[in-house]
Amino acid sequence: MSVARNAGGANAKANWLAGAAPGRTITAVNIPAWDDREWTPLPRLAGTVRADICVVGLGGSGLAALEELMALGVSAVGVDAVAVGAGAAGRNGGFVLAGLAKFFHENVADFGRDTAAALYRLTAEEIQRQAGALPGIIRLTGSLRIAADEAERADCRRHLAALRAAGFAAEAYAGPEGEGILLPADGVMQPLQRVRTLAQRLRTDGARLYESSPVKKIVPGSVITETGTVRCEAVVVAVDGRLEQIFPELSPRVRTARLQMLATAPAPEVNFPRPVYWRHGYEYWQQQPDHTVALGGFRDHALKAEWTASAEPTELIQGRLDKFLREHLRVKARVTHRWAASVAYTKDGLPVMEEVRAKVWAAGAYCGTGNIVGALCARAAARLACGQSSDWAELLAIARAHAAKS
Ligand SMILES: Cc1cc2nc3c(=O)[nH]c(=O)nc-3n(C[C@H](O)[C@H](O)[C@H](O)COP(=O)(O)OP(=O)(O)OC[C@H]3O[C@@H](n4cnc5c(N)ncnc54)[C@H](O)[C@@H]3O)c2cc1C
Repeated sequence: MSVARNAGGANAKANWLAGAAPGRTITAVNIPAWDDREWTPLPRLAGTVRADICVVGLGGSGLAALEELMALGVSAVGVDAVAVGAGAAGRNGGFVLAGLAKFFHENVADFGRDTAAALYRLTAEEIQRQAGALPGIIRLTGSLRIAADEAERADCRRHLAALRAAGFAAEAYAGPEGEGILLPADGVMQPLQRVRTLAQRLRTDGARLYESSPVKKIVPGSVITETGTVRCEAVVVAVDGRLEQIFPELSPRVRTARLQMLATAPAPEVNFPRPVYWRHGYEYWQQQPDHTVALGGFRDHALKAEWTASAEPTELIQGRLDKFLREHLRVKARVTHRWAASVAYTKDGLPVMEEVRAKVWAAGAYCGTGNIVGALCARAAARLACGQSSDWAELLAIARAHAAKS
């Protein structure tokens, strides 16, 4: 894959990542554990092609938009600056969670139970849809939210009560991971396999997808890359991190941050049957069926530095992850991968899903949880770009109006 850089090419600054530091043995620098290097690059956009809609960004969200467009019988072209899943969609923690970035009870407080519940229900349905379409890649294991301290235990109780009052499945949990909530309808996945499988299916169904095609300009009726142009009626930009670089007009509301992860060799000494969200979701880990462990977190331990468009792992955050891996998770297996990727945040915790310029729709800024919400937002943007209605878009507009008042 064109994004791959291996340990042999590591510069001095990154030597510690590649194993130079004592106790570290890394097989790859800034390559996610999910990458099996089996991907055959797609062509670059060349010359002029025509389509009703051009989708920019081939992560989980852009691919979901393309699925929606194909289902509507609309001609579409997808372009990506780098590759399918090169952004956060192929480099994330693999959590498949219902709800928005803020917890359900916080959404109830922000915009009322009916709207919060309707949005939550659509995310739960989207989980079912994706899991049905990707058996073996998405596993509906349930997820755990575990409290890091007494204050968070109290918050878990409020969270649980709100979910139950709205009729959603949730249970109090106490087990080896700690105390918190079990959310039985959630799941976990291998994120890069998810997007590569979706892209392959779309291509089999006739979708035109182009990699290595950074978009330089979007003007009415045209998406212009370094080597080609898509002439189209409307554009859906499905980019999470660095969305404000494509749309500078969003920069007062959207800010890009780096999230970092590591993964280990098989760790049979631990058993995490479900993905775990810890300390309000700042730390998160999952164990794959091959017993490897993937762990992310500690962005708030260098908050200023992590507000960045850089997607390189850093020694400080990786050091925190190492310590947590050994001392809290009790994993002994060696670390095999360390990586980072960009996501974007909004102040109100709600995603961007709107017509930013005439006939140009943007979906992104999922505030750290875009695997499900991103697909819903980009599907909604695709529908609106075709003049169709979208329940998700209508509910988000209501939520945003409430959030603006509070
Ligand atoms: C470390 C980490 C852990 C995470 N864990 C989870 C999790 O467990 N669960 C969860 O739900 N979410 C998680 N997230 C968030 C989630 O990964 C993202 O919200 C989601 O993947 C965004 O997908 P996307 O398709 O919208 O955007 P992206 O994956 O960012 O894809 C955008 C694509 O657009 C392309 N692009 C960008 N600019 C241009 C341009 N100018 N021209 C053409 N193409 C362009 C990029 O190359 C990229 O492929 C995590 C994120 C990170 C970084």
